[in-house]
Amino acid sequence: MLLATDLDGTFLGGTQEDKDKLYTLLNNNEDIRLVFVTGRGIRSVLKLLENTSLPKPEYIICDVGATVTHLPTLMAVEPVQSGIAKLWPGDHVRETLKNVKGLLHQEAQQQYRCSYYYDETTDIEGARKVAAALQCDLILSAGKYLDILPKGVNKGYALQQLLGVLALPHHKVLVAGDSMNDYTMYETGFKGVVVGDAERELVARTAAMPHVLQALRTGAGGILEAMAFFPEFSIYLEKEG
Ligand SMILES: [Mg+2]
Repeated sequence: MLLATDLDGTFLGGTQEDKDKLYTLLNNNEDIRLVFVTGRGIRSVLKLLENTSLPKPEYIICDVGATVTHLPTLMAVEPVQSGIAKLWPGDHVRETLKNVKGLLHQEAQQQYRCSYYYDETTDIEGARKVAAALQCDLILSAGKYLDILPKGVNKGYALQQLLGVLALPHHKVLVAGDSMNDYTMYETGFKGVVVGDAERELVARTAAMPHVLQALRTGAGGILEAMAFFPEFSIYLEKEG
């Protein structure tokens, strides 16, 4: 199987006991492939991997889907990355968005995405119009993150593209997340888990999806709960004994 998981609030969340259990399972089981799918930039993810005993993923989809990297080599995954690059209008995106009221620029270095914080003073509709005129999408998440991405590029899109390169069938994939920028991973039809304590809108919008489990346990515990819930994934837990 392949676990494609968000980091903050999902893979990095939950009780210490659940995290230990999940990380040990992944470290001891080569049959479970691991992909991180995060809003963080690549530097932040690499830093995280340096400083912890976290299991190492094979691939990192970062920047909410705008960057797809093979971890051992740190090479961009092609042709996925060039496809995304072609959809990005260019550096003038940030310049154009400067005129939108209440957008606070996040400082992370980014190539094919612009990210901001927003609050109740932000002209979100204005930002949406500017984004649309630039052939870009606007994604809100966790009540504070606002991302401008190339049209159609998001976590679900990048994961599908990566699976195409890996020639891995979709039924072997479990996706995990906790906030609205994870929504596209469920929308694409992968079996998934919304972990406990997730963003309310995500819970509401996935509630009627039969392929999505709304877990009770938070973070890593929710991922373990989902592995036990879906028969095709529970065998990996049994192996552990
Ligand atoms: Mg998250």
